[in-house]
Amino acid sequence: MFREGAAQLPEVEPGDVVAVLGSDARELGLALCDPRGVICLRMLSSSVAVDEGALVRERLSGAFAARARLVASPSTTAYRLVHGEGDGLPGVVVDRYAHVAVVRLDGDGPSRFFARHRGEFMAALHAAGVTALGARRVDAAPGAPKLDELEGEVPPEVLVLEHDMKMWVDLHHGQKTGAFLDQRESRLRVRGLARGRRVLNLFSYAGGFSLAASLGGATHTTSVDLASAGHKAGARSFRENGLEPREHAWVTADAFTFLEGARARGERWELVICDPPSFAHSEKTKARGLAAYRKLHAAAVAVLSRGGVFCASSCSSHVTHDDFLSTLDVSSTGRALRLHGLAGPPEDHPITPAWPEGRYLKFAWLTEL
Ligand code: SAH
Repeated sequence: MFREGAAQLPEVEPGDVVAVLGSDARELGLALCDPRGVICLRMLSSSVAVDEGALVRERLSGAFAARARLVASPSTTAYRLVHGEGDGLPGVVVDRYAHVAVVRLDGDGPSRFFARHRGEFMAALHAAGVTALGARRVDAAPGAPKLDELEGEVPPEVLVLEHDMKMWVDLHHGQKTGAFLDQRESRLRVRGLARGRRVLNLFSYAGGFSLAASLGGATHTTSVDLASAGHKAGARSFRENGLEPREHAWVTADAFTFLEGARARGERWELVICDPPSFAHSEKTKARGLAAYRKLHAAAVAVLSRGGVFCASSCSSHVTHDDFLSTLDVSSTGRALRLHGLAGPPEDHPITPAWPEGRYLKFAWLTEL
């Protein structure tokens, strides 16, 4: 990836595909341009002698075949079909929710590239059984619908299966492309850890972890999120799975404030899940972000019962797996944790060596030492 080179690309338009030469005039390959974007060149291929349409068709068929082999099944109908750089289609994300696909394009270059190849994308999607396509708007006003319908009819909400767990997804207002598909295997992990436990789910959004815990045999769940919209979606998904949401707690609050109150009241949980939004958006804010993760983890462990399980996650690409582990050292609070596992992004979010940003997700499960 080339950054801050826009001044050197005056005659290039966003979405153009150009040959990139090294300083010794050697051909490095083809790249997709976004001259005014943060990332001005994204490598598409290491050869310059390729037909763009054929390249897109080949990348799509490779991406779709990998999902068909690794993720898709009658029990899992929501997953990422195209993961940008990880699938050789930089800046383009396509998520599948049953018969609907939602595309998210990272800036002008990828948007125009996608517009030029929409026919190839639609052909591949149709062949995979997708009948409707929407595009996520990145500049929608708060509360306004965030989806443009491109093909077919995109319903406001769609019911999907994730390892047989039924989940309602709000395609027009939900976060990301509707759901946090990257935590699918983490939710399954929680399902396996929850039996007989009281569960606290911090930053719960649409309650996916709470639902997984309940299906896994949790005795009670408490979902905490600053926004209440996710609680409504969560309650609906609970009912869809034959669970009564009113038997569980849905709290609209700041997680840090909630934790302070719970600690003061002496409340404890046997499984605490903590999946906050990114606290480190850039290298510049990384130190502050790590301090926030440390503070949050200490506060979460303070409400963990002795012998309880703590699941912690970070979605910041600026926080490495080692950085993240360092924030789980809560020994200053008099408690010590041992790590049983640390997972990265799931199989439908592939990475490449040249794209370290792709390793953004961390999910750790720990118990007290
Ligand atoms: N765990 C969820 C995804 C969490 S996304 C899942 O698996 O689907 C992060 C969530 O944190 C968002 O829903 C956002 O509303 C919420 N949030 C952001 N800041 C918060 C805060 N200070 N306290 C509580 N929730 C917060």
